Amino acid sequence: MPNEALTELARELPDCVELVELPTPFPVGPVNCWLLAERPITVIDPGMYIPESIRIFEDFLDRAGVAVAEIDQVVLTHGHPDHFGLSGWIAERSAATFFCGRGEEGKILDRGWNEDHARTVVSDLGIPEEILLAIPVGLEMIRAMVRRPGQDRLELLNDGDSREAGGRSFDVHVTPGHAQGHVSLSSGDLLLSGDHLLPLITPNPAIELDEDSELGRRRSLVEYLTTLDRFAALAPETVLPGHGPAFRDVPRLVRSMRDHHRRRADHIHGIVSRHGPASVYQLSRVMFPDLDGMNVMLGLSEVVGHLDLLLEEGAVVCSKDHPNLWAAA
Ligand SMILES: [Zn+2]
Repeated sequence: MPNEALTELARELPDCVELVELPTPFPVGPVNCWLLAERPITVIDPGMYIPESIRIFEDFLDRAGVAVAEIDQVVLTHGHPDHFGLSGWIAERSAATFFCGRGEEGKILDRGWNEDHARTVVSDLGIPEEILLAIPVGLEMIRAMVRRPGQDRLELLNDGDSREAGGRSFDVHVTPGHAQGHVSLSSGDLLLSGDHLLPLITPNPAIELDEDSELGRRRSLVEYLTTLDRFAALAPETVLPGHGPAFRDVPRLVRSMRDHHRRRADHIHGIVSRHGPASVYQLSRVMFPDLDGMNVMLGLSEVVGHLDLLLEEGAVVCSKDHPNLWAAA
């Protein structure tokens, strides 16, 4: 979702860091794939398994003078297909180790998905039947654009770990929000932020299932906001994000994001105050009437995130009806 305040852009990339933008079929546009060309040669977020992307990625490595077989390691900032989809293709052509945050393993290996629980959570959002039926079709299309690394090639990262990459030592930040086990890497004044901090849009607080929680899902936006002070305190000189240009001034970005989420939560509170109880789906149609197809899910997760904020503040209540209805407290 658009972020009103663009932070100052970084003019040049640090030494030995190279960027290629790889195409995706998603509204977010291309994904940034970063190459740290010193040993251990490291690729961060290799994009999707689609012919155009593979061609661009191969040309990019050619220009950088790196053979696919020479890639030592691949960091997957999170288990969304636009970031990890080419992993299996690289795994077949190299001995690279693949790193991801603990919490992303299931998404990357396509495991641990409880269909019944997913259906309950999604249908409680109030999504009409015809859209519910289209979800498995959309997921299959996306699965065809992904090749997964084997479990034996995957190494899980924890918050506070450190790793060598591209001739530097990086601190590993595993912070939930956009994805439960999202990884960012910091080294001195450099931060590779994946989708956790983006210069042009606010990261979507993706709906993630959690069978043990009361809501049946994580409170992605609430969790996300608790992580931001840490990144503001790092005050990196250059941030290399998962989408959009490199940028500076994380404290300013964090302030503008907090303002943005406050305004959006207040807006939703205003709607339920005026119009009475509503499902997440109904609210998403008011907020984001132009989203269609699978993109409806992006609007739903935005609304869910802000309702969670309001719920935590005691400003709304959520009924136990099916679907759940949200009302001003
Ligand atoms: Zn992304």
